[in-house]
Amino acid sequence: SLTQKLSQAMKALRGQSKLTEANLEAVLREVRMALLEADVHVSVARTFLQRVKEKALGAEVMQGLNPTQAFIDIVHRELVEIMGGQAPEHPIAFAAKPPTVVMMVGLQGAGKTTTCGKLAVFLKKLGRSPLLVPADVYRPAAIEQLHVVAKDAGVPSFRTEEKDPVAICAAALAEARLKGWDTVILDTAGRLHLDETLMEELARIKTATSPDEIFFVADAMTGQDAVRSATAFHEKLGITGVVLTKTDGDTRGGAAFSIKQATGQPLKFVGEGEKLEDFQRFHPDRMAQRILGMGDVLSLIEHAKDKLDEKEAEVMAKRLAKNQFTLEDMRKQFQQVQKLGSMNKILGMLPGLGQMKEQLASVATDKRIKHLEAIINSMTPAERANHNLLDGKRKRRIASGSGRPVSEINQLIKQFVETKKMMGQMNDPKFMARMQRMAK
Ligand code: GDP
Ligand code: MG
Repeated sequence: SLTQKLSQAMKALRGQSKLTEANLEAVLREVRMALLEADVHVSVARTFLQRVKEKALGAEVMQGLNPTQAFIDIVHRELVEIMGGQAPEHPIAFAAKPPTVVMMVGLQGAGKTTTCGKLAVFLKKLGRSPLLVPADVYRPAAIEQLHVVAKDAGVPSFRTEEKDPVAICAAALAEARLKGWDTVILDTAGRLHLDETLMEELARIKTATSPDEIFFVADAMTGQDAVRSATAFHEKLGITGVVLTKTDGDTRGGAAFSIKQATGQPLKFVGEGEKLEDFQRFHPDRMAQRILGMGDVLSLIEHAKDKLDEKEAEVMAKRLAKNQFTLEDMRKQFQQVQKLGSMNKILGMLPGLGQMKEQLASVATDKRIKHLEAIINSMTPAERANHNLLDGKRKRRIASGSGRPVSEINQLIKQFVETKKMMGQMNDPKFMARMQRMAK
């Protein structure tokens, strides 16, 4: 995995006080290989590494940071940058004079029709009134599908006797003006492959409706093909954003990494399932936070090698990799935290816990860690191995054993479940894909 590769490569930087061309070379080579293996386009990988290298070279290693951490810091900042920096306040450029027109384009099966419904739900929550327009006239089923999606989303869809997609869209706009629908979403046709006739048709729809946004809908699972078609659609139509669908599916995700680079257009939304709610804005900053989580795992491993029982760290890493993380492991982490000293510094480095740093910062004192440890100590090995055993009766027993209230036990279990979930994500092969997705 990328994580493993990086961690391998980082070893080269250990004990160095400055990032130099010589000690960077090996690391950058590894990062490059990992990116390529993840199906990131060669030129995208090259651009990214070039930027990292420029920033990293000669960068004075900040007080208290070792070169590894400094490097991760640079990689992180470059990832945020490459993903588009701060997400804009509104993911859609609404027209000053309604209706706003959003045109969905992309290959057949990419998820355009589904995304129309998802976006409608999203817009409704913003207090807008969307109208869905079926402009995929080649398959009667496609029109019916959009009507069903609209019904599920609780928004109107445009019905007409018109057969020509350009005429349908124009009529829908007129109706929207008349009835006060403020956002018109055009569900256009796709083809299995890039197709000049279709492109011409889309261009005519564009001319007729002057869309405020043209979203290229890309199936995350189609790899480099998605990058190629994104580029082609962009050249012909000038897309304004990308919606990446099926990120819940198995994917190496290199395409996602590349689309932003290839088109220069930002990733706006992410589809995470078939249901209308499985849809989110794309936040570069949040995504970067999660990449930072990866960096933290690496620094912990580094740190652990120096300060902790190396064998224990290794076992932990293996368990992490298999997502067998239990309360017993969490107890060991707490012990390590105490062994390592200063809470706050270490907190950010622990897998999972690092992510909860803010949440924990207010409550996590060394004293509190002792309480949490006491709670887990009062559990039987079976309970530590399987937190699902912890029913009310067992919790009360643990409460009296540890001298802590049941509410604190519940809180601990909640934190544990969250941590475990996060680790599942980090160690899932899909996490890799997610990382690339974050790294647009
Ligand atoms: P279109 O041809 O571009 O309009 O694609 P559709 O909207 O009809 O979607 C094709 C298939 O992909 C459908 O079975 C959808 O349910 C499915 N789909 C769309 N988006 C997602 C997603 O984010 N996750 C998953 N798992 N399936 C999706
Ligand atoms: Mg469709």
